[in-house]
Amino acid sequence: MSFSLTEAQAADGLAVARHTLELLRTVPEFGDRYADVAAPGTLAELAALPPLAKDDLNTALAHLEPSAAQGATWLFQSGGSTGAPKVGYAPTGFYMAKVFEHWQPLDRDDVFVNAWGAGRMWGAHFLAAGLADLCGCRVIALGSVTREEYPEWLAFLADRKVTAIGGTPSVLRLWFAHARAAGIELPSLRKVLWLGEAWQPQLEEDLAVVAPKARRHGMFGSTETWVVGSNTPGCPADTFHPFPHQLVHVGDDGLLDFTSLDPAMLNPVLRYRTGDAGELTSCPCGRTGPAMRVLGRRDNVVQVRGLGLHVDELLARVEREPGVTRAQVVITEQGGRAQEVEVLLVTAAGADVDTAALRRELLSATFTLSTAFVHDPEHVRVRTVDALIGNDRTGKTAGFVVREAS
Ligand SMILES: [Zn+2]
Repeated sequence: MSFSLTEAQAADGLAVARHTLELLRTVPEFGDRYADVAAPGTLAELAALPPLAKDDLNTALAHLEPSAAQGATWLFQSGGSTGAPKVGYAPTGFYMAKVFEHWQPLDRDDVFVNAWGAGRMWGAHFLAAGLADLCGCRVIALGSVTREEYPEWLAFLADRKVTAIGGTPSVLRLWFAHARAAGIELPSLRKVLWLGEAWQPQLEEDLAVVAPKARRHGMFGSTETWVVGSNTPGCPADTFHPFPHQLVHVGDDGLLDFTSLDPAMLNPVLRYRTGDAGELTSCPCGRTGPAMRVLGRRDNVVQVRGLGLHVDELLARVEREPGVTRAQVVITEQGGRAQEVEVLLVTAAGADVDTAALRRELLSATFTLSTAFVHDPEHVRVRTVDALIGNDRTGKTAGFVVREAS
């Protein structure tokens, strides 16, 4: 099983893929990349097309400059976490009507807090607003708040008896950690919508205290593909059911690629790779048809002095430590060589984490660290901080940060 749809299910939609191919052929920067390929009439022919990488899509968009058939054309940040924003396009509505046909996490009785940040060309706040509009619920468009503002807003949300909240998992972690620290409960909260990062299992611990009735409802997507699939509380957090207008393919190398079968799609998404590895599988929730299991980004292995450091494995180990709410790996380089590896910890209020013991354990248990720093182990450090290093431009907090020594 390497496609999310059968030949028959995809047949009509492949007309959109053929149209996208025609558009990509007109992009001068691609040269003869698409010159010799056949217009895809079958899934096998589609799989034979060259995949698109993030930069390719931006190159194509700079040439195509698509616009919506009706209403406004919105520009959003797309790809790249450094430098100037790269741009993706979407029409008003953000393709959520097709999502709503298959997934209705909210209903008219819900009071939904939209906690995805608004502004800065971020897309998630607006697509969640689009979904809420279709669901007909009550909406509190909160966006992002500063550290000092959490207790006051949490009290307001408790007072309003909110039933649903949505955000990126790292922002949701902040909301529930602050609620727990302040002793604020949200007993009416039943739904936690999320998109933008992998689910963080540590959220369950805070939810169990703050909002024990809350269950997760996830979306998977990117600003290039928009929402590809979703899940419900009965699905594993890393498994999503792709929508019929989104064709998911798993390559021989285990990388996922996405092809839009939606004629209204403005971004030329044809075998587009987000960098995520994954597989198509059956979901234990019992829904039939292939579900997409996302196995994480291949680029979460970072080179440290010539050895691969598995950042996710390291963070998973650190975040199992009692009292640690979130961690981040910061690599300081000089002239391309890793000078120091620091593990930053955000800890729960009042927690007393033994960073020295944790550091000793990480050094002995992580082959890359013990080998790469065998002569200077003092350059592997573990320390607690007030806040992790975020990317002000994208609003995301990455699992690892590489920075140049000052
Ligand atoms: Zn499922």
